[in-house]
Amino acid sequence: MLAQNDITIVGAGPSGLACAIILARAGRRVTVREWKPDVGHRFNGDFQGLENWSRDADVLDELVGAGIAADFERHAFVSGTVFDPTGRPYQVRGKRPLFYLLRRGAAEGTLDRALLAQAQAAGAKVRFSDRVCDFDGAGVLAAGPRQAGIIAAGHLFATDMDDGAWLALGHAVAPDGYAYLLVQGGRGTVASCMFTGFRDQAKHVAAAVAFFRAHAGLEMRNPRPFGGYGNMRLPITAMQGAHPVIGEHAGFQDALAGFGIRHAIRSGVLAAQSILDSGDYTACWQAELGPWLKAGVVNRLIFNLAGEPGMKLAVGRLARGDVGGLLKRTYGPSALKRLLLPVALRRYRASLADPSCDHSDCACVWCQHGDHAATASATANI
Ligand SMILES: Cc1cc2nc3c(=O)[nH]c(=O)nc-3n(C[C@H](O)[C@H](O)[C@H](O)COP(=O)(O)OP(=O)(O)OC[C@H]3O[C@@H](n4cnc5c(N)ncnc54)[C@H](O)[C@@H]3O)c2cc1C
Repeated sequence: MLAQNDITIVGAGPSGLACAIILARAGRRVTVREWKPDVGHRFNGDFQGLENWSRDADVLDELVGAGIAADFERHAFVSGTVFDPTGRPYQVRGKRPLFYLLRRGAAEGTLDRALLAQAQAAGAKVRFSDRVCDFDGAGVLAAGPRQAGIIAAGHLFATDMDDGAWLALGHAVAPDGYAYLLVQGGRGTVASCMFTGFRDQAKHVAAAVAFFRAHAGLEMRNPRPFGGYGNMRLPITAMQGAHPVIGEHAGFQDALAGFGIRHAIRSGVLAAQSILDSGDYTACWQAELGPWLKAGVVNRLIFNLAGEPGMKLAVGRLARGDVGGLLKRTYGPSALKRLLLPVALRRYRASLADPSCDHSDCACVWCQHGDHAATASATANI
C-alpha cells in the first residue's frame, strides 16, 4: 500500500508530529509542512488536560510504548472540585491521575515544543509558514479542525492562588458544556467550553469568571483573552484518496467534552504504523479509536437530553467513589450505547454544529479566527 520513502505530513499539531516521530525514526524521509510560523500557533500557553481515565493504560505509558517521550512539562491531577448547575461543590478524587495538566503553544515546556524537538531529532524536516493546498506523493493529513462544533474561550492569567482544578456545569456558564479553572505554579486558565450558544460567547465567559470568583476564589493578574475551536465528526474511512487523515482533521474528538489530544496522538501513531507495515489504517483506527468515538457521540446525546437535572445527578454520583473508575465506565463503550448509536448518529454523524453561529454579526472565536476556507476548499483538496 503506502510504501514510498518520502512522506509529507500536513500540519504540525500533536497528531502530525506524533506521526512524524514514528516515521522518521523508522528511516522514512519526512517533511512536516506547517501553515503557521511556529508550532502551537492555535494555542496561547493555555493549560489543557491529557485525559487519563478512558483506558486501563496510563496515557503516559501509552505514549512511551508508542515511542514518544513524555518530556513536556506536566503535572498529575488526582483530584478536583466539580460544581453542579446549582453551584453545589463536590470534591472528586481518583485512585490514579485523572489527567495530566500540560501547556499548549510555542513556549518551552509545552507539548507542542516537545513533540517538535522529538520529530526534528528523529530526522523529520519541519517547514513553517507553508500553507499546503495540494501536494504530490505519499502524505498524511493532520491539519486540525475543519469546522467548529465546540468553542472554548476565556482568560490566561498570573495568580497567587494555590494549584487546583475546578469544573462547573450549567447552561449559564457554558451551554451544553462546562466551564473550567486550572491553576498551576502561579499560572491559570479559566474558560467556558460551549457546545452551543456561540453567539453569546462573551456573556458565558463573563458568567464563568464571575462563578469562579464567587465559588473558587479566582484571582487574576494580567488576564489575557484566549480562545479556540474544535470539531467532532465520525468519519467513514478517514482516508482522503490514498492519504490517511489523522487527529481533528479526521474529526477525531471526544464529542462529550472535547478531550482530543489523546485521540490525535494515537491516530498519528496508528497512521505511521500502517504506513510502515503497509497495513490498513481504516481498520486500525476503527478497532482502536472507533468504539470510544462512537461512545462519545452517544454520551453527547445523553448529556444533551439529560439537561441540568441529569448533570446534577451525575455529579453527585461521581463524587461517591474513585472518579477515574466511574468516568471510565461512564465514558466508555457499552451495550446500551451500541443500541443508542443509530439515534445519536442521526443527530451528530456529520458534525456537531451550533445553529446559533451563522457567521452573520457573530463575535465568537470561530467567526473571528476560524479557518473557514478549510471547511469548503483548501484542505478538502489534500
Ligand atoms: C481552547 C481549547 C482547549 C482544549 N483543551 C483540551 C484539553 O484540555 N484536553 C484535550 O485532550 N484536548 C483539548 N483541546 C483539543 C485539542 O487541543 C485538539 O484536539 C488537538 O490539538 C488536535 O490536534 P491535531 O494535531 O489534530 O490538530 P491541531 O493541534 O489543530 O494541529 C493542526 C495543525 O495544522 C496546521 N494547518 C492547518 N491547515 C494547514 C494547511 N493547509 N497547511 C499546513 N498546515 C496546516 C495548523 O496550523 C495546526 O498547527 C482543546 C482545544 C481548544 C481549542
